Amino acid sequence: MKVGILGNGQLGQMLESSITDLTDIEISLYDLRAHDDAELAQFIASVDVVSYETENIPAHIVELLEPHADKLRPGLNALKTFQNRLLEKNALRAAGIDTADFCAVNSLDDVHAAVKTLGLPIVMKTTTEGYDGKGQFVMRSPNDAEACWNTIGNRELIAEAFVPFLRETSVIASRDAQGNIVVFPMTENVHHEGILRYSLYPAPGLSSAKAEQAERYIRQLADSLDYVGTITLELFETENGLVANEVAPRVHNSGHWSIEGTSASQFRNHMLAITGRELGSTESKYASVAMLNVISDETPAEVAETIANAHRHSYGKEARPARKLGHVTVVADTDAERDATITKLTDLMPTGIWPPAAH
Ligand code: AMP
Repeated sequence: MKVGILGNGQLGQMLESSITDLTDIEISLYDLRAHDDAELAQFIASVDVVSYETENIPAHIVELLEPHADKLRPGLNALKTFQNRLLEKNALRAAGIDTADFCAVNSLDDVHAAVKTLGLPIVMKTTTEGYDGKGQFVMRSPNDAEACWNTIGNRELIAEAFVPFLRETSVIASRDAQGNIVVFPMTENVHHEGILRYSLYPAPGLSSAKAEQAERYIRQLADSLDYVGTITLELFETENGLVANEVAPRVHNSGHWSIEGTSASQFRNHMLAITGRELGSTESKYASVAMLNVISDETPAEVAETIANAHRHSYGKEARPARKLGHVTVVADTDAERDATITKLTDLMPTGIWPPAAH
């Protein structure tokens, strides 16, 4: 079977390397940045299944995919829904998942109206093309309205009520075309300046009620869209339970730990799901795991090489500010052992974010 992946970045590469033993699946990665319509159409025609490493696919390419929707996994509906934060929030609500209160904003008047409806603070976001905290403006006063509209407005925005979260977490699942679902254990995710810096499994002190809520949510979401492939739900943990932030219709940085941590990683399960094979186990093989990102050249990527139980992955990219160049997975028999190893790797992190705040 031939599988074509749109995008040839690290996610595409990790999808490819997750199934090197399955020699009857042939994967090709397509670089969307240098694309040419005719060449892309030929690429799509030459494969049995098309998947994508990112939902940030320009509208005219999505149009090109329309006639081949039957090959696309996850499907066109999922892609379009999770490309747009308003459609995404509506889909989450429709699936019975709690989100921040929100409203659409298309003008400066709408910004003022949102303040009246939602109160302050408001997290204002562009509905499309925002990632890693880009295209966002936090409004704390009604006087911020003009600055907000001038900075990120003049296009469709979504206003979200500010969620007073304790911490950020995510849950990842893979679903096949028959509706079988495997769910990965949740992680706590710690960000700095909008970029994920590390993920911890288990999420320290996570209650079983919240873990069950996350699993229920991701099953409801994947079922509601008849989703095929790996899907990620980012969740704020609050005093009163979990509140969905956003969805990625793909493998996710917070699931990279599964390469070493589970027998079938998020990448492998995605490939198994989209090629119609039986999904693999998502149970953790280790009591305790962490994933640390290697960001730009501020951090010596070699640091992990000599540390036991630290597995280094390099994406072979040139260093640029705020660019993800690789990651390190730490595996351990206890949380204390894991945390001691992370402490040895603190060169990989900006100061002040390790250890995470206690919950
Ligand atoms: P996003 O791109 O939607 O993941 O947002 C980037 C970051 O902004 C999140 O990881 C949160 O730290 C913060 N954030 C986003 N939306 C909200 C919200 N409604 N309330 C509080 N913080 C938010």
